[in-house]
Amino acid sequence: MPELPEVQTVVSTLQPRLAGLTITQVDLRRSDIVQPAGADLCATCLNRTIRAIDRRGKRIVFTLDNDIRFYIHLGMSGQLTIADDSTPERPHTHMVLHARRGQETVALRFRDPRRFGGIFMLSSDSADPLGPEPLTLSSRQLHGLLQKTARPIKNALLDQRLIAGLGNIYVDESLHAAGIHPLTPADRLSPQHAATLNRCIKQVLRRAIRHRGSTLRDYVNADRSPGGFQRLHRVYGREGAPCPNCRRPIERIVLQGRSTHFCPACQPPLGKSKS
Ligand SMILES: [Zn+2]
Repeated sequence: MPELPEVQTVVSTLQPRLAGLTITQVDLRRSDIVQPAGADLCATCLNRTIRAIDRRGKRIVFTLDNDIRFYIHLGMSGQLTIADDSTPERPHTHMVLHARRGQETVALRFRDPRRFGGIFMLSSDSADPLGPEPLTLSSRQLHGLLQKTARPIKNALLDQRLIAGLGNIYVDESLHAAGIHPLTPADRLSPQHAATLNRCIKQVLRRAIRHRGSTLRDYVNADRSPGGFQRLHRVYGREGAPCPNCRRPIERIVLQGRSTHFCPACQPPLGKSKS
């Protein structure tokens, strides 16, 4: 599933290509990908200029010149790509948005085979249910958020209402970098642990953004290129392979139905010193 680095990569690619262009046509092939049900995406967007494209958590937020906003969530398999007419359209393309500035025309295609993603209209008074952004979070803030829950730290960090943008890959990688066992109760982390974790989350995310995210299955950037960070994963998807730090085999457990990868030596349970 695309997480913060993948979504940021898409946004950084789309923003210079689409900002300032006027939407001339919206081809919606499946109305059920638009929420709330019955919202008229086409009428809302037609002849409007795209003012900005930003990221919020894992959301790709479009702001139009009339302050109307909507966001696209890539879900598990979503792809948002810039195409020209000569690029064959692939199956499961649910929406094509055409935009123009002068002689310049761009088509933005949204395809999503598994349909966990979608297009979500926002109203001016839509509440933002997401927690703060990890790249700008202070250690004190993170510690305060983690104090609110006794859930395992892995599950707490996946909760988008607590902190927005992290998913399975980058939580596993950040916890390994910080030397924190994924089952550690979130409220048992000391201020020092939280500071280490905060630093590691930022390092992992920034590195992943530099490598244009991770491609495991479906993810591609808006120019249809895959990410490169999957080659640099230290624990995620590496069950049985040696830990890059200590050579012990990486272990995999399942937490709330999600694969969780960690090194039993570098990430000892709380209260046990590193061996
Ligand atoms: Zn290790």
